[in-house]
Amino acid sequence: MSLYHPVNLNCPHCGKALEFSASVSVNADRAPELREAILDGSFQRESCPHCGTGLRLDPQLNYLDVGRGQWIAAYPGAWVDRWAELEAAAQQAFDKAFGAQAGTAAREIGAELKPRLVFGWGGLREKLVAADAGLDDTGLELTKIALMRGMDDLPPGQELRLTQATGEGDDAALVLLLVPDDPDGELEELSVPRAIYDEILAEPEDWQPLREQITAGLFVDVLRLTRGG
Ligand SMILES: [Zn+2]
Repeated sequence: MSLYHPVNLNCPHCGKALEFSASVSVNADRAPELREAILDGSFQRESCPHCGTGLRLDPQLNYLDVGRGQWIAAYPGAWVDRWAELEAAAQQAFDKAFGAQAGTAAREIGAELKPRLVFGWGGLREKLVAADAGLDDTGLELTKIALMRGMDDLPPGQELRLTQATGEGDDAALVLLLVPDDPDGELEELSVPRAIYDEILAEPEDWQPLREQITAGLFVDVLRLTRGG
């Protein structure tokens, strides 16, 4: 089921009270249009009925796509430093619904699901884009590390989010958004050859220690090496 809860907030522009219908659960198998809306960035985007200012509620939801093997707990981007605590909560929620504490039928479904924890719409959308492009998300995170090591102007804590995979064969590329620390900061994208990712997958032993660190929990993200926790 895809579920919503009413939330009350004040418009950041005119200050008037608003009631927003916040998504708490997305079932992409039953409502594929919600997955599309996450991909095109329209999901949970509304405008203030008083002044017309556009608003987007931060994600705080569970996303399920059995067909693509995805179970994702998504939280607001600003909560990323709390990943360790939220990772434990997400693991519990997954275990209850599809893991050790679930019934036989649910456990069978759960065996085919990759549980993940993400922050922000960019973090959620990235997992959908990666799955669509046939990219292993751990390999993607290792690719980000390779980029940070190789580019002097890319600091180790830089948040990078895959926005699309383009081209084929030798032209295949991954487009990554450099997320600014300041939410009003300028957005910059980086297009890198997919070959960097392919080379990492071809050298599993070289990357094994980092792979273990990145996949130590549901927050499969390079930020677990540099943020909060
Ligand atoms: Zn308003």
